[in-house]
Amino acid sequence: MTRFLFWLALAFLVLFAIRSKIRGLQQRARSQQQQQPPHPFAQANRRVEELPDAEQMLCCAHCGVYYPASENVPAKGHDYCSHAHATI
Ligand SMILES: [Zn+2]
Repeated sequence: MTRFLFWLALAFLVLFAIRSKIRGLQQRARSQQQQQPPHPFAQANRRVEELPDAEQMLCCAHCGVYYPASENVPAKGHDYCSHAHATI
């Protein structure tokens, strides 16, 4: 009878050890997921949204350069980066 109780206690101890090990691994996985930084592109988009006075950029119809909308030279229904490109 004592042998049976010994093996029964040993089986419970092994089961308890396995369950606690699995719980530890799950908690470590959860904490690692929470510590991961957000995607770099998501951070870049957030930075652009945080800039209240970020200026819109336009593409020149002649040379394809992007320039601030405040320097736009509209002509013939298109946007140009300079008067030289607008008159060509
Ligand atoms: Zn241009």
